[in-house]
Amino acid sequence: MALSIDEARGAVRAPSKPRRITVLGSTGSVGCNTLDLIERNRDRFEVVALTARSRVDLLAEQARNFRPALAVIADESRYAELRSQLAGTGIEVAAGMDAVVEASRRPADWVMAAIVGAAGLEPTMAAIERGAVVGLANKETLVCAGQIVMKAIAENGATLLPVDSEHSAIFQVIDFEQPEAIERIILTASGGPFRQVHPSQLHSVTPAQAVAHPNWMMGAKISVDSATMMNKGLEVIEAAHLFPVATDRIEIVVHPQSVIHSMVEYTDGSVLAQLGTPDMRTPIAYALSWPQRMTSPSKRLDFTTLSALTFEPPDIERFPAIRVAREALQSGGNAPTVLNAANEVAVTAFLEERIRFLDIVRVVEDTLGIMPNTPLTCLDDVRTSDALARNIASERVAALPRPN
Ligand code: NAD
Ligand code: MG
Repeated sequence: MALSIDEARGAVRAPSKPRRITVLGSTGSVGCNTLDLIERNRDRFEVVALTARSRVDLLAEQARNFRPALAVIADESRYAELRSQLAGTGIEVAAGMDAVVEASRRPADWVMAAIVGAAGLEPTMAAIERGAVVGLANKETLVCAGQIVMKAIAENGATLLPVDSEHSAIFQVIDFEQPEAIERIILTASGGPFRQVHPSQLHSVTPAQAVAHPNWMMGAKISVDSATMMNKGLEVIEAAHLFPVATDRIEIVVHPQSVIHSMVEYTDGSVLAQLGTPDMRTPIAYALSWPQRMTSPSKRLDFTTLSALTFEPPDIERFPAIRVAREALQSGGNAPTVLNAANEVAVTAFLEERIRFLDIVRVVEDTLGIMPNTPLTCLDDVRTSDALARNIASERVAALPRPN
């Protein structure tokens, strides 16, 4: 007897068993949002492993709550603390970066890559190499090793689901079947906290001002990247690897309300957009439950009270990071790896008040000018360029006058 449409739908949608999830970077902003969604949908998920860098109290609390088989702290000096906090729980405990990579190798159906920076590359690759479904928040992985990562995905039958809100938006509206029908991708940008700050004041802005993003609550590094707009530069590079569109067709528009998360324009003039309130739980939920949908508690848009959606071109003079990132993408080879490494060094130096805000992009540009452009053929090439660029960027930082 044939199933009714509703029965058939139910049969397809009913999860046969809980999806087994590993969260890399579980104590961060994206990691905590991921666990918040899992908490609200306990029957659909089972946590296999959790990893963090140094926040041992939060990691132990998460482990007691979600009962993974394994909890890993990257900072080895915190191992004893984690072990004692999880004593008697039966949860396996490990420490060090190798253990983080090992955690990612454990059989889980789905891995959330939410470590910040190039530190996320090796653990993410470990999940890709065993053919996992990977939710990618860690955009730096694609920036510093895009070709190698995408090749590994194809070779290992892995699946990469973008978590970055712009890329999730594009993923939801793009027609992968007809790349020739895509005219352009339009990445929206909030413009960050300094969109309206007078350029003459930018040299003296503080780390506290830079991390105070107007729309999104995020980790410190991506918040500073949003303030310099390097974040949008990194996202152009990320989009170039994820989507079948020439780089000169990836455009940026500043949209301060962060309601439209990005758009795809087709050759017939149609523009498809994904909208929502700025809450990372929406794109995370999309990736977590893909190819189905799940509920998220994010606040809903009320179109009757939305007063205005505004758009303006990015101010490239004021935010040169966008130009620098596009040039690195154009140069290819190790240039994006160098861009990313130098930016990580410079952002850390700014957060530690060793350089000024405007010096961040200066350090990145100087480093790109000094480093020879070489091709990337394997992960070792990425590691070498990343390390060299960090050395050069650190020297540039040391050569700059300290802010008073
Ligand atoms: P965060 O700083 O809040 O968290 C980072 C996580 O990674 C933490 O759990 C930390 O313990 C772990 N970690 C950091 N360095 C590590 C290392 N060396 N080794 C092992 N673990 C390490 O960062 P976040 O804001 O959650 O961002 C995570 C990633 O997601 C970044 O790549 C960011 O660009 C991207 N992203 C974040 C948001 C957001 O809303 N926060 C939005 C889009 C994309
Ligand atoms: Mg984004």
